[in-house]
Amino acid sequence: MIIDGLAAVVGAEHVFGPDAVEPRYLEDETGGEAGRPAGMVRPADAGQVSAVLARCHAVGQPVVVQGGRTGMARGGLPRAGELILSLERMAAVEAIDGDAGLMTVGAGCILEVAQNAAAEAGWRLAVDIGARGSCTIGGMIATNAGGTQVLRYGMMRDQVLGLEAILADGTVISSLGSMLKNNTGYDLKQFFIGSEGTLGIVTRAVLRLRPPAIGRQTALCAVADYPAAVRLLARLERAMPGQLSAYELMWSDFFDAACAVTGQAYPFADTHELIVLAETESADPDALTAALEESFGDGTVHDALVAQSDRDHQRFWRFRDAIGELVGAMAVVEPFDVSAPIGAIGGLVADLRGRLRVEAPGSRPICFGHIADGNLHLALELASEAQRPIAEAIVYDAVRAVGGSVSAEHGIGTLKRAWLGHSRSPAEMAMMRTIRAALDPKGILNPDRIF
Ligand SMILES: Cc1cc2nc3c(=O)[nH]c(=O)nc-3n(C[C@H](O)[C@H](O)[C@H](O)COP(=O)(O)OP(=O)(O)OC[C@H]3O[C@@H](n4cnc5c(N)ncnc54)[C@H](O)[C@@H]3O)c2cc1C
Repeated sequence: MIIDGLAAVVGAEHVFGPDAVEPRYLEDETGGEAGRPAGMVRPADAGQVSAVLARCHAVGQPVVVQGGRTGMARGGLPRAGELILSLERMAAVEAIDGDAGLMTVGAGCILEVAQNAAAEAGWRLAVDIGARGSCTIGGMIATNAGGTQVLRYGMMRDQVLGLEAILADGTVISSLGSMLKNNTGYDLKQFFIGSEGTLGIVTRAVLRLRPPAIGRQTALCAVADYPAAVRLLARLERAMPGQLSAYELMWSDFFDAACAVTGQAYPFADTHELIVLAETESADPDALTAALEESFGDGTVHDALVAQSDRDHQRFWRFRDAIGELVGAMAVVEPFDVSAPIGAIGGLVADLRGRLRVEAPGSRPICFGHIADGNLHLALELASEAQRPIAEAIVYDAVRAVGGSVSAEHGIGTLKRAWLGHSRSPAEMAMMRTIRAALDPKGILNPDRIF
């Protein structure tokens, strides 16, 4: 058995046989079912990851990589016979360069730990997602995570200056540069960002930090309809150029459920179909209020609340962050994460809700999204597992019809593998396979993920 030789590499206390793997390593956020793994190994550094992979490569042992297991595409969920390689021991914030605004972290570092360390050093790690307390920097790099601040600071790709990764045969690729500019041939780190662990295991990263915001204004806005939400976005961007840091749209099915699960009172006197959570980092504390008053005047906004305190700010975000609890409470869930041209999203939601009601009766969608990024999330509670292929066909066909993508930020994993062709051409898929075969000829790293 592969694990027999691994104790010498990582220490016996960090190697587990198939029956000794704790259940939490066999579960994920989507409720997927794991196969019986070959075991689990928890290396402490890049050298140990390299040695483990070299042994696996030699015998063709498939490996599944795990960070914080918050992924929404089942990529980290073990399949039968795979060796789980967990990065959880490589969790340190290794260094912060307070002059240059750089941070070096281990791949297993939890996002919130990295965010707090940056803040203590007077900087800011400008990515944020609801899973911040559990997801890891390595997992976020592997999935090119997005989140609520993409509008201003970009996706995970935009935070990574350098990284270290281990190829399937154990080769260490140290691309730990800290420069924004480095045009010396292929930018190798990009192979590992967003490739979901299929081209190499990320073990360490150099991240770019940003200055903390000078100001912060947060508002909950009830908008007239979907086109009004798009108009309001454009108005806020023009009123505060480059300072809008979040624009989260919540449909009533999401917002009502968020009120129920958080126990927070509905914040407006009347009920509304669409509520925007907008946040700006303007130095002018009145700029957001002024833009909202103008929008109220022309009927774009029906009602709005501007946070007057940190407590209000936390309360507003509590609604949006309730998604983890909402999905966690769903018995059979499909966490759709699609993108579409921003103008098409309102019609797409109406179309999908109507079709799901008829063709997947009893299913319950909750809709929300990072609308400024053209990113719609539709967490769908299914009435039964049998509805999954029906719902997938409805959603992905509709997304393709409007020129969208079947994955905006969660990745493909195993959950969306069958639908990759809806968003990628045969030539693109062939190129991906060529790259994968070159870097992992035996196909041992996260096999059957993506394609
Ligand atoms: C409540 C909640 C909110 C979320 N919100 C967002 C959001 O707003 N935006 C967003 O993009 N995602 C979001 N997600 C999804 C998830 O948090 C991200 O995909 C995150 O990046 C996964 O990190 P992780 O450490 O948990 O990775 P895991 O789930 O452990 O792994 C994810 C994938 O990456 C691979 N992988 C993990 N670590 C490495 C590594 N070091 N090297 C190579 N491959 C690796 C795994 O094999 C797997 O394929 C959310 C999830 C939850 C539960």
